[in-house]
Amino acid sequence: MAGRFKICLIAVCICVLLPALSCLAVTTFEIYEASALNQVIKRNTLIVGMEVKFFPFEYTDADGRPIGFDVDLAKLAAQELGVRIEIKDMEFSGLIPALQGGKIDMIISGMTRTPARAKTVAFTQPYFETGLCALISNKRAPEVSEIGQLNAEGRILAVKLGATGDLVAARLFPKAEVKRFKEETACALEVVSGRADAFIYDKLSIERHHAQNLQTTRAILRPFTYEPYAIAIKSGDFDFLNWLNIFLETIKADGRYQELQKKYFNDL
Ligand code: GLN
Repeated sequence: MAGRFKICLIAVCICVLLPALSCLAVTTFEIYEASALNQVIKRNTLIVGMEVKFFPFEYTDADGRPIGFDVDLAKLAAQELGVRIEIKDMEFSGLIPALQGGKIDMIISGMTRTPARAKTVAFTQPYFETGLCALISNKRAPEVSEIGQLNAEGRILAVKLGATGDLVAARLFPKAEVKRFKEETACALEVVSGRADAFIYDKLSIERHHAQNLQTTRAILRPFTYEPYAIAIKSGDFDFLNWLNIFLETIKADGRYQELQKKYFNDL
C-alpha cells in the first residue's frame, strides 16, 4: 500500500506540479525582455541620471548644457547602442532611489563603487580611479599637514551629503564633528570662510577648490581612500551590465577612452 502511495505521489508531481512550476519559471528570453538593454533599444533613448555639478565629470557649458567626462562617456554609450540620450540632472543622494524606481536606466556621476552601494545596485568595471583628499582651512587649521590630524576633538569636517566623504568621515575621523551639506560649493565655502577645518572630497574637486582659493586654503592631495568610479544600473540586470562592461573594455582598447581623458584631464 505504502509503495502504491509513493508511486501515486510521484505521478502527481510529474503530471501536475512540474508543469505548474515550469509555468512560473522565468525564461532567459523574458529576462532579456525586462533588461534595461532591451528597454533602451526599444524606446530609442538611454536615460542617464547624474548630478550636473561635479567638475570635470559633469558640469554645464555657457549655455547651461551638460558637458564633462561622464557626459561624453554616456553619449558614446548611447551612440554605440544606436539610441538618443536623455540626461536627468538630480541631487546626488537621489540617484540610487531614481534608478531603483525605474526613472533612469543608469547612473554615471563620478559615483564610487562601494560594497555598501553594491548591495542595492550593480556596478560596472571602474572607468576612473581616484581617492579622497582634503581641502584645509588656513584660518582654522594652520598647523594641519597630515590627514590624521583631522581626527581630533574640536575639528569640524564639511562633507557632501551621501558622498563617500560623508560615508567614511564618521569611521575615519570619529573624534571630529561632521557637518553635512547638499552642495559641494557649500562645503568648500565652509573651509574658505574658516567655519570648518577641512572639506573631505574626491581629489580633482579638492584640487580645483584649492586652486580657486589659494589665499585661504591648502590641500592634502595624497588620497587616503580608494575611489573607483563606475556606472551603476539596477541589480540583477546581467544583460545590460555585460553590455556596459564590453563597451568600457572596447573604448579603453580602441583609444576613444584615452581621447576623453585628454579632453578633460590634460589641463588639470
Ligand atoms: N565619488 C564620490 C561618491 O561616489 C562623489 C561623487 C559626486 O559627488 N558626484 O560619493
